[in-house]
Amino acid sequence: MTSGVLCNEGQNILLPRPGFCLYNTVAGSRNIETRLYNLQADKNWEVDLAHMESLIDDKTACVLINNPSNPCGSNFTKAHLNAILAVCERHQIPLISDEIYADMVFGDQVFTPTGLADHDSLAKQWLVPGWRMGWIMIHDRNNALADVRRGLFALSTLINGPCGIVQAAIPKILTQVPADYLPELNAQLEQHARILESELNKVDGIEVISPQGAMYVMFEGIANDADFCHQLKWEENVELLPGECFNYPGTVRLVITPPKDILKAATERIAAFCARHRK
Ligand SMILES: *Cc1c(COP(=O)(O)O)cnc(C)c1O
Repeated sequence: MTSGVLCNEGQNILLPRPGFCLYNTVAGSRNIETRLYNLQADKNWEVDLAHMESLIDDKTACVLINNPSNPCGSNFTKAHLNAILAVCERHQIPLISDEIYADMVFGDQVFTPTGLADHDSLAKQWLVPGWRMGWIMIHDRNNALADVRRGLFALSTLINGPCGIVQAAIPKILTQVPADYLPELNAQLEQHARILESELNKVDGIEVISPQGAMYVMFEGIANDADFCHQLKWEENVELLPGECFNYPGTVRLVITPPKDILKAATERIAAFCARHRK
């Protein structure tokens, strides 16, 4: 909805690489050109700001960021967010900030919202991705986005979205959550991530990219990520997503939400698979 309301056909939107694939799909279906700016693996996946800025032209309708990141698991600092905002401000371009992993950060990491303070996400914080339920906040100090607000409302009426039962559950979900729910969830996710890291780093040829948040672990060192995932699924019944889904070949992504014993079994199978196939 946000890209639909901000971009006209023939305009372009700036998206992160690596990044969540749905943005491309949605933009492509509306004849919006996508331009991928690089995230820097060696700089904690911060945006290559010079690269981002070089992609902006008079047809650029908006910039999208995703923080914390799927698939990188990175968490931007406030300084970095301000630097991104400065680029957008210089070019007077609105920023879409997909913060579906808001507050899902590990250890002493602090999540910084880009616009308004405090908010929750539903699909990921409450582990209900199928619900297709979320919200958009418009940060509009100068009342420049009144049309955008109207447009979003109009677009929302086009969607055959979540049913009334799901909507009716939200007030309770948001107000009756024990205070330790999110810290405990984050601690559990972090523990899962660290198990995967330590187990997979033992496998020759694999290097795990350590996440700071969200619910994924990536590893690199894979010659052909699509083949790797396909073959792994047939031989070991372990399903990973190839980096090519995130415009980032040579890597694969694991989801860290399954129970620990399942993750352990998966790492053993990945290790056996790699031992058989390593070149
Ligand atoms: C999961 C996800 C979403 C959307 O989640 P829904 O299940 O459709 O609510 C949006 N952005 C990112 C980056 C995600 O990983």
